[in-house]
Amino acid sequence: MRPVPRDGYGREIDYLRISLTDHCNLRCVYCMPLEGLALAPSSAFLTAAEIEQVVRAAVAVGFRKFRLTGGEPTLRPDVVEIVERVARVPGVRDVAMTTNGIRLPALAAALAAAGLRRVNVHLDSLDPVRVARVMRWGSLAEIWAGIEAAESAGLRPLKLNAVVVRGFNEEDVVPLAALTLEHDWHVRFIETMPLGVREVAEVARTALVPTAETRARIEAALGALAPLPAADPADESRNHRLPRARGIVGFISPVTEPYCGTCNRMRLTAEGRFHLCLLNDDEVDVRAALRSGGGLEAVAAILLRAVRHKPTGHRLDLGLSTKHREMYQLGG
Ligand code: SAM
Repeated sequence: MRPVPRDGYGREIDYLRISLTDHCNLRCVYCMPLEGLALAPSSAFLTAAEIEQVVRAAVAVGFRKFRLTGGEPTLRPDVVEIVERVARVPGVRDVAMTTNGIRLPALAAALAAAGLRRVNVHLDSLDPVRVARVMRWGSLAEIWAGIEAAESAGLRPLKLNAVVVRGFNEEDVVPLAALTLEHDWHVRFIETMPLGVREVAEVARTALVPTAETRARIEAALGALAPLPAADPADESRNHRLPRARGIVGFISPVTEPYCGTCNRMRLTAEGRFHLCLLNDDEVDVRAALRSGGGLEAVAAILLRAVRHKPTGHRLDLGLSTKHREMYQLGG
């Protein structure tokens, strides 16, 4: 098997996030607008067979870990087939999924049987009214049923992702963190990043709650957070444990504590373009190569080229992704 590829800065890039669709059954305030969203038709998305081709090519150049995401990945009618195809590619070490959990009661057992190892479930509050305010189309009861389904299907360790949004849920970090006292879950708090369409990016930029504030709020209510050594240096979450807790509290701080230096990720959009960084909009088209009969070698060559050009870091400390640079009249 090939050694893990390194980018131009010596970072080992072995982790590919694959978006299965850009459609979603939620409209979180910092992610998607309620109206006017231009979504691609499903026919534009890579098919299950094409995704398998990309994964084979990625493994051939040294990628080992894969995460299926979106949009909402469980909205793909062929999501179980996709997991099965990805999981059985020789050399794939890990297949995980990021989801809002709503469809897990129907799917968790089949996904686990198909080879899915773990899920990250997105939940911003334990208060049903605030879930409806921040995640809009979803309900706490639906997401909670998804969490229970993931547990029963053995998708472990269960990780919960909560985006902390000023004016919406900054107080809710305490009950969310307290879940780790009883459960061996990882509850991770994420700073808002200015992504997507302009109005939503602006919400994310102005609603930022720095990790230091979230952390202080949790410690004031629940006690000191003891830092845990990083099991994986590329893990974007800084992990801690509350006194006598079973689970882990993590902080993902792309704005106030960027972790670009250890970033090992690349992203494939649902339409088959590699993004070199979540927060830069440089991209490399792989669908055209696949559909013109390029096959595994062409995709592998594109991937290696993309890895070499992975940027050093994003500029979220300035509150922007490349897409929104013009918003701040910075140019460049
Ligand atoms: N639909 C799935 C979900 O809700 O988890 C997967 C896709 S969602 C885009 C992946 C993760 O991105 C979620 O955990 C969500 O919390 C996070 N996210 C979305 N928009 C964000 C933003 N503007 N800033 C920070 N995190 C964001």
